[in-house]
Amino acid sequence: MSNALAIDGGAPVRRDRLPYARHTVEEADIAAVAEVLRGDWLTTGPGVEGYERAFAERVGAAHAVAVNSGTAALHAAAHAAGLTTGDEAIVPALSFVATANCVLYMGARPVFADIEPDTGLIDVRLLESLVTPHTRAVLPVDYAGQPADLDAINALAHAHQFAVIEDAAHALGATFHGERVGNIATFTAFSTHPVKHIATGEGGMLATNDPALAQTARAFRNHGITSDARTRETRGGWEYDMEALGYNYRMPDILCALGRSQLSRLDTSLARRRAIAIAYTQAFADIPCIEPLIQREKRQSAWHLYVVRLRLDALRVDRAQIFRALRAEGIGVNVHYRPIYLHPYYQRLGYAPGLCPRAEALYARLLTLPLWPGMTDADVADVIEAIRKVCAAYAR
Ligand SMILES: *Cc1c(COP(=O)(O)O)cnc(C)c1O
Repeated sequence: MSNALAIDGGAPVRRDRLPYARHTVEEADIAAVAEVLRGDWLTTGPGVEGYERAFAERVGAAHAVAVNSGTAALHAAAHAAGLTTGDEAIVPALSFVATANCVLYMGARPVFADIEPDTGLIDVRLLESLVTPHTRAVLPVDYAGQPADLDAINALAHAHQFAVIEDAAHALGATFHGERVGNIATFTAFSTHPVKHIATGEGGMLATNDPALAQTARAFRNHGITSDARTRETRGGWEYDMEALGYNYRMPDILCALGRSQLSRLDTSLARRRAIAIAYTQAFADIPCIEPLIQREKRQSAWHLYVVRLRLDALRVDRAQIFRALRAEGIGVNVHYRPIYLHPYYQRLGYAPGLCPRAEALYARLLTLPLWPGMTDADVADVIEAIRKVCAAYAR
């Protein structure tokens, strides 16, 4: 048997590329959507409330507001938190751009915080030094599915009177010290993009325990209008009031039905994600060129991503070469994320390279491996075999 790497012309571990993430849609989901399509309400109908109630109950929140993306959920939270021109909001450097973009949408300024090198989570020891009289919010990201140090963040937010907008796009179903993500921060934003835990095509949810903030977010998703079409239909009038500048971020009933059906299988899919993560971590214990991220005590990750750090000192090549070699083996690796402020738009706003050195150093070593509930044990074995093969070939 030849051990030549596929990138050098050898036989790949698998011919079809295993994606890093993939949705799961079952017949029950399709039936739920079809039922809405045969009914009277394609959007802003009874399916929205039903989905919101089921979601709020699952994440332990008093209120959940359905919107049409995770980004819209973050934007609605930034609006309800009152962010405005001249304000600052603290954002971890290592996240998807949406976490910082929602601050810019409000005319406020993202202040980037560096991360812990072993978890990729916002480093709470740095937070105090970033707080100014202009700080209006902090946006911790539950990177890869593991909750940030929400106790420390909540304490700081309480002391300085600012809002916590938790970006839980990776963390539906996660817990922190036994408490569910969704019932910890002022706001918790979720995404239902197909790579995330439940898939609605596009979609998001904003959870909060504060009824007034929920009301503000509800109006924000409908142009800032304080009543919706169905309420007016029931009430019988035609008048409505636009009280604030909002957007059309409404989640159609079609997608709410899909989300609700998907949500009913969340526990099964979380368990499968966790089992795959455990299998990886066990296998990688004796592969010297990679180190998985560390899981902190009393935090239960929702395992959106399985992220490893390459030990570049043990390798003859850089991350880009490992990435290409694994792709050639049929393993759909990915990278999450380039530090936000290194994107051209943020560079033009004046954020300089070197701002968050640990995020930049971690970024150079990051690799995301395939992890999704529909993966078979054979798929998992392929990933492990390819990692072993590529690491051995490039070991120093
Ligand atoms: C996916 C994601 C978002 C945005 O969600 P969309 O539904 O794609 O708008 C925001 N933050 C993080 C960390 C994400 O991974």
